[in-house]
Amino acid sequence: MTHELEIAARERGIKYFLVSYTDLFGTQRAKLVPAAAIGSTCRNGAGFAGFATWLDMSPADADLLAVPDPSGLIQLPWKPEVGWLPADLVMGGKAVEQGPRNILKRLIKEAAREGLQMKSGVECEFFLITPCGSEPADTADKQTKPCYDQSALMRRYDVISEICDAMLSLGWKPYQNDHEDANGQFEMNWDYDDALITADRHAFFKYMARSIAEKHGFRATFMPKPFMDLTGSGCHAHVSLWSGGQNVFADESDEIGMSRKGYHFIGGLIHSADALAALTNPCVNSYKRINAPRTTSGATWAPNTVTYTGNNRTHMIRIPDGGRFEFRLADGAANPYLLQAGILAAGLDGIRQQRDPGQRLDINMYTDGHKVEGVKQLPLNLLDALRALEASSVLNEALGSFVPSYLKLKRQEWDDYCRHLTQWERDTTLDC
Ligand SMILES: [Mg+2]
Repeated sequence: MTHELEIAARERGIKYFLVSYTDLFGTQRAKLVPAAAIGSTCRNGAGFAGFATWLDMSPADADLLAVPDPSGLIQLPWKPEVGWLPADLVMGGKAVEQGPRNILKRLIKEAAREGLQMKSGVECEFFLITPCGSEPADTADKQTKPCYDQSALMRRYDVISEICDAMLSLGWKPYQNDHEDANGQFEMNWDYDDALITADRHAFFKYMARSIAEKHGFRATFMPKPFMDLTGSGCHAHVSLWSGGQNVFADESDEIGMSRKGYHFIGGLIHSADALAALTNPCVNSYKRINAPRTTSGATWAPNTVTYTGNNRTHMIRIPDGGRFEFRLADGAANPYLLQAGILAAGLDGIRQQRDPGQRLDINMYTDGHKVEGVKQLPLNLLDALRALEASSVLNEALGSFVPSYLKLKRQEWDDYCRHLTQWERDTTLDC
């Protein structure tokens, strides 16, 4: 029988399929499969050596099979003869427990059993830098408050419009593009959707932005803090929860439009925030964005504390209007699947345990945070976050054997970082 993707290939002129999966560190791994072989690849999976990627596997393990999900097909707008397919990981006939997409799908199913469906949108901030990575590509982009700078945005019109045109053609419903708060930094917004669709699009967006930037002679980076004096790149997530077509976070009787279930979900995020940071802020560099000193623009726009508020951007969670909240902790390095999985796991725990998010703080956390007593701080570095993840019964229970695998690989990364001697150490310690 002819596979649906073989038919799609013929109808849409697709010559090759990129069968792609995202590993634990967020790197996308792929095999390029000719259209004539996509039917058998869908039945049998594309074979990988799992140890060769960040999945905590051994060279002695059997073939890791990436089985494409035809519903996630995206034809590359800048190279239409190629179709991208997100894949699920299988080994020995079983779903790989630590596969990031597998984890998210499992949690989505669990939520569905409780009649719940999470929808979300992500705001991917990124820099356009020189190919060598040393500075923003636009040497004229020098304002101290460069946010929404019309001229700097329009100097990159060719890149930004090509990415936005691509999203329009893919039906993602993009609606705004802007120059962000750092020199050389941009953000492009598209419509929210089911968590898995958003995760697939988020993964693809990063690949697309890099590819199109490269075509124009630039480099797109989602690194959380590529320049110490400039605002870092966050990946804010806007989250709502639905049941039978109804937004269960919406409640008009509440002062800021959030339901009891919504507050419990937020309570879950607040309860697990320090552990969650190991997923949403997964790199050594991530901790130079949160807890950071003020940038040249006047604010970091990143949270320092585990707090929530109304329409105020100085806290970890902002409730801009009824029926949704914005989770401002995650950064550009967050794995698209683990970001959604982490939010869902912590939030569902909040609902099940009816967790109290505590008091809503309507203050400027950057200037007045020190006046509030008992406020929980975010981890100061990756090691603290990894320790919090190890100690989190909520995330260990929800994410299963993924957690020890992730901790093992991330601890190796931390150890590697500690083996590097920095110029700062030499400058401050040579004359000790
Ligand atoms: Mg932004």
